[in-house]
Amino acid sequence: MSMDITELTLGGLVAAMEAGEVSSVEATEATLKKIEEKKDLGAYVTVCGDSAMSAAKAADKARAEGKKSPLLGVPVAVKDNICTEGIRTTCASKFLENYIPPYDAFVVRKLKAAGAVIVGKANMDEFAMGSGSEYSAFFRVKNAIDPTRVAGGSSGGSACAVASYQAYASLGSDTGGSIRQPAAFNGVVGLKPTYSAVSRNGLIAFASSLDQIGPMARTVADCRTVYDVIKGHDAGDSTSYAGDVDKGDTFTSLKGRRIGVAKEFFPKELNGEIRAAIDKALAFYESEGAEIVETSIGSFDMALACYYILSSAEASSNLSRYDGVKYGRRAEGCVNLEDIYYKSRTEFFGAEVKRRIMLGNFVLSSGYYDAFYLRASKARTLIKKDFESALSGCDALICPTAPTTAYKAGMSADDPSAAYLGDIFTVPVNIAGLPALSVKCGEDADKLPIGMQLIGKPYCESTLMSLAEIYEKGGER
Ligand code: GLN
Repeated sequence: MSMDITELTLGGLVAAMEAGEVSSVEATEATLKKIEEKKDLGAYVTVCGDSAMSAAKAADKARAEGKKSPLLGVPVAVKDNICTEGIRTTCASKFLENYIPPYDAFVVRKLKAAGAVIVGKANMDEFAMGSGSEYSAFFRVKNAIDPTRVAGGSSGGSACAVASYQAYASLGSDTGGSIRQPAAFNGVVGLKPTYSAVSRNGLIAFASSLDQIGPMARTVADCRTVYDVIKGHDAGDSTSYAGDVDKGDTFTSLKGRRIGVAKEFFPKELNGEIRAAIDKALAFYESEGAEIVETSIGSFDMALACYYILSSAEASSNLSRYDGVKYGRRAEGCVNLEDIYYKSRTEFFGAEVKRRIMLGNFVLSSGYYDAFYLRASKARTLIKKDFESALSGCDALICPTAPTTAYKAGMSADDPSAAYLGDIFTVPVNIAGLPALSVKCGEDADKLPIGMQLIGKPYCESTLMSLAEIYEKGGER
């Protein structure tokens, strides 16, 4: 093939491999070369060239023997908070800088069983806390469209890798927007599945009641292929859903479909270009036969505070295991146990992670628990109910993924809490445990991609993907 094979879609690559036009070894070599050329973007913490090449050879052999599986021989990236046996898994933190897991996460086992070739571990915000992938303890991820800007976060490396042809698809994780917002900032597709639809076994925990793993790819169809591989029950995750995770529909016509627009997601301060892009997409859906219905999430204003209270509380508990004894690195020159805790945590946690741990301990401390954690838990119930009632009248809600396009690097260092505001449209979805997808729906004047978010009913990922795919084929991007 004369074209650059890294620029094929995942589906295109599989078809070309099946037709015998290209081998997995060729695709993997080309991908590794691209990773080397684009190193400056900072998308990967670890590149696994050797294991990738042996997986590619095995895939070619299996195909020659007649084996078929959805990701056979496809080079993919995995976020560096998802455990890979024998491959360093750092969470972009100094604490886990040298941590080599003795096991594969459930989703990694699924990827491997489907024949995928893992080319590397994607860079991210330390412990997945952040929105710009600037809080990596190693180096920041640059935006694939404009390297002076942030890639979004925390799955910035997973998004950048896919957008810049350094992988055909990737896995990210989403606690408050970390798949959808970087997908939006880099112009790719990102799916945050329903809570419990994908096993968290082997995902290094940030906030366990909110964390979900999901796929990122350049097309909706490619996202679907990866999602179909990783979803489903796992006895190794006590929150994994044992029922049917496929309650949605697959369709190509919008007749009889209803799309909800909740006014709270369109505040009057919303950036005009983003509003115009979403309005255009809604007009497209309407012109294709969908009905647009107005609805409301009355508790929307509580969501951001609720998220930062609950996620920080859970993080403060989850991260207590990094004590210099059980996991990861230990500081030098410690004279007693307290010293080990103190020095190791001081030295190996970054500033943002420390902020979250302090906030989490504060909201859980006696005297403040009722005022913060308990109230946030109650707000969570209200938010869930509001979504349930809004979604009872439609197939999906549509809104912006983020209130801005990718901003200049360095901005969150000036005001960390300003970055929290950027999560305003994504966090309510995690609180409610719902599936949501981000797809590109236009560009701003600087040619930066704008993301549209589709929010669905529990386990109705396929409905979201059908809606997004219809837009992808006919809408303006
Ligand atoms: N930006 C959000 C935060 O910093 C979301 C992170 C995530 O989804 N992992 O918490």
